[in-house]
Amino acid sequence: MTSQEIRQSFLDFFASKNHKIVPSAPMVIKDDPTLMFTNAGMNQFKNIILGNDPIKYPRVADSQKCLRVSGKHNDLEEVGHDTYHHTMFEMLGNWSFGDYFKKEAIEWAWEYLTEVLKLDKERLYVTVFEGSPSEGLSRDDEAAEIWSQFLPAERIINGNKKDNFWEMGDTGPCGPCSEIHIDIRDDAERARVDGLTLVNGSHPQVIEIWNNVFMQYNRKADGSLEGLPAKVIDTGMGFERLCMAIQGKKSNYDTDIFQPIIHAIGKICDIAYGQNEKTDVAMRVIADHIRTIAFSITDGQLPSNAKAGYVIRRILRRAVRYGYTFLNQRSAFMYKLTDALCEVMGTAYPELITQKTLIEKVIKEEEDSFLRTLETGIRLLDKVMDEAKKSGKTTISGKDAFTLYDTFGFPLDLTELILRENNFTVNINDFNAEMQQQKERARNAAAVETGDWVTVREGDSNFVGYDYTSYDTEILRYRKVKQKNQEYYQLVLSNTPFYAEMGGQVGDSGVLTSGSETIEILDTKKENNLAVHISTKLPADVTGGFTASINLEKRRATESNHSATHLLHEALREVLGTHVEQKGSYVSPESLRFDFSHFQKMTKEEIRAVERIANRKIRENHPLHEMRETPIAEAQAMGAMALFGEKYGEVVRVIQFGTSTELCGGTHVDSTGRIGMVRIISESSIAAGIRRIEAISGEAVELLLDTQQDILSEVRDILHNTPDILTAIRKQTEENTELKKQIEGFNQEKIMQLRDDLLQKATEVNNIKIVRYEGSLTADQAKTLAFQIRNIQNNNLCVVAGCVNEGKPSLTILLSDDLVAKGLNAVNIAREAAKEIQGGGGGQPFFASAGGKNPAGIKQAIAKALSLVR
Ligand code: ATP
Ligand code: MG
Repeated sequence: MTSQEIRQSFLDFFASKNHKIVPSAPMVIKDDPTLMFTNAGMNQFKNIILGNDPIKYPRVADSQKCLRVSGKHNDLEEVGHDTYHHTMFEMLGNWSFGDYFKKEAIEWAWEYLTEVLKLDKERLYVTVFEGSPSEGLSRDDEAAEIWSQFLPAERIINGNKKDNFWEMGDTGPCGPCSEIHIDIRDDAERARVDGLTLVNGSHPQVIEIWNNVFMQYNRKADGSLEGLPAKVIDTGMGFERLCMAIQGKKSNYDTDIFQPIIHAIGKICDIAYGQNEKTDVAMRVIADHIRTIAFSITDGQLPSNAKAGYVIRRILRRAVRYGYTFLNQRSAFMYKLTDALCEVMGTAYPELITQKTLIEKVIKEEEDSFLRTLETGIRLLDKVMDEAKKSGKTTISGKDAFTLYDTFGFPLDLTELILRENNFTVNINDFNAEMQQQKERARNAAAVETGDWVTVREGDSNFVGYDYTSYDTEILRYRKVKQKNQEYYQLVLSNTPFYAEMGGQVGDSGVLTSGSETIEILDTKKENNLAVHISTKLPADVTGGFTASINLEKRRATESNHSATHLLHEALREVLGTHVEQKGSYVSPESLRFDFSHFQKMTKEEIRAVERIANRKIRENHPLHEMRETPIAEAQAMGAMALFGEKYGEVVRVIQFGTSTELCGGTHVDSTGRIGMVRIISESSIAAGIRRIEAISGEAVELLLDTQQDILSEVRDILHNTPDILTAIRKQTEENTELKKQIEGFNQEKIMQLRDDLLQKATEVNNIKIVRYEGSLTADQAKTLAFQIRNIQNNNLCVVAGCVNEGKPSLTILLSDDLVAKGLNAVNIAREAAKEIQGGGGGQPFFASAGGKNPAGIKQAIAKALSLVR
């Protein structure tokens, strides 16, 4: 079976068991502060499992793009070195939300693997939770019993809490799990060593393929467990590992998912796969990472220097330096793999093909810039080694290695590799200590203490903010949260007009009032799809009734900017072309920001044209046409602009103003006229192929125009109310240039005059003509003066000029060539004398100058210089 067929067979199998097949959620998570990337199939169902979202389908199955490179699941260091961990991989999964439980889950897993895929039963092993007396949990006999229909008792292995008890986080749903392992070794090997002894033993050919989690508990903040009302089945099977087993390969990289990419790498580097372990590892790393990088770009997460973007950047850099170190790639090469990737994955994930140009551009630019950093880092390391050599050391400090790691993205092994080639080592303990310190700093900064939810009353939380700005409500639950020594409360309300930050639009602030009490709501955010209202205190009586009212002024300004964003989006596509796709947006009361794909800087004319179109739409006063519950297919048929990498449900909200149609959950003006006007205030590049515009709307434009008008009026005042400001300024500038030229001329004449005067007044000492000047020339003028004097006499001459110009002292020394030949040096004289003006200088033996900080010392400096000449 091809990988395509295997994926499809899984979905077909569970569809036949009445599962609803749903699409993969985006790999990059945008609206969850606790998680950057999807790391398991269950992430997208978290809100259902927590009871915050309704159960639409009790049985669901899918193939989910996962990424395990940060946080709780981080496999990055294994990737490439072993043959079965990836950064990005697909997880096949089936779920039951309060429907079937262990029996069906286990029986279907067995049926699928052994009857549909016909895997050899003799090669399969399963694990069950052994229990934990300290938690009062007994062995999962129930699961073991079900398995015993299919497997002899010795192949049902007990597993400990670490491997066989799954928890979503510090708190929340959890339960025992049961894993299926497969032994893919050759028969001879299997006869030699019993597979049983290798399960969970990190053998690359005896590995876990499927984990079945039975969520039946809820972990509370004090660590205790309580029963979960609706039990959940959550399973995850590694697609690449399954393909390896079915296709009879010994490594995920030998399957049809990776071979075309490995082949393309081999061609670029002119190195065959399977010849040498070092180059093989590098090729696997690159084949793996190119997928992660490309998929995160299509999901809208570009490499950057913060958060999720930084994680992606580091992955790319890891691949580049494996290529650099082991495959001799000194220039960008990863971007050339996009073709092979599209060939393998483009059918299942067409976004790779539609966004191919963007993927290539972004990767190439990142590679180029990292290769430059790499060169800088290598030079730095050379310097460090040089210094160590001079002081007779063969070890460089862990601190230096850490700086390289932290600022130049040099992993320790690369530093070590370069050091080894030069017979150096690094102090690893120091390096680890530095690393530890940094981790602790990060942990302390991020530490959040979250209390348990206190339930005031049961009920659902409804958002009424599309229709109301103030609404009567009650508190459903609340909890205390402590972060960076600040304590605040999170409140969940039964009905709320507060918009919780989402889709780039900031959350509402406002108040909760009851009688004479007013509780301020600082912000509203979504957490696991619950709108949480953030306040610094709790009301005296949490059980009472309240009126929740948003800050209307702030909301209106935000709405104006949000609707303006839609109009600008449409106008950008009209002016620049339909390759313009939204890549990010941020809407606040003050301004809006819109990022989009476009490959060059927008011209002044294009910006103008976009503003013109948007402002015309504003004046046309299109009413808001809001369709709250539209089936997604219908919305797309209307031409609604959906964002790739955004998670949409089956019914969506469509926002229409005239011809602008977007899927959007945000709040908007009720007709475009209320925006007043929109103005783009900046246009810039934020990454290869991505531009950003910032704009303001409504009253903010009025304020901007006022400020500009005021500046203009003041300029006009300065220009004595001339009617034509531009001509007046141009004329002044021209006059200025002319005057400068004249002054130059005068100065020149003055210097000539000065030259003659000084020569006349010059004294002679030991046959040397000493020309002394003290005055207010600039250093440049003093130089001209000295050279002019030299033009007249270039033997037995010494010029010493001390100047203070605009409070800055300078010293100029010139010696004729014969004096230099006799051993005098202007640089030494200038340096020594400049001490009197607290300065230093330089130049050549015949001419030197020095600046300083102490104008009062200029007389002494001249005297010092003269005495040195004497
Ligand atoms: P392992 O111990 O092999 O790292 P795991 O216990 O971390 O696996 P789970 O979290 O249970 O795995 O994930 C479910 C399935 O996803 C695993 O059985 C495995 O087939 C697959 N899987 C997990 N991590 C990876 C990875 N980094 N790359 C590819 N497949 C993976
Ligand atoms: Mg793992």
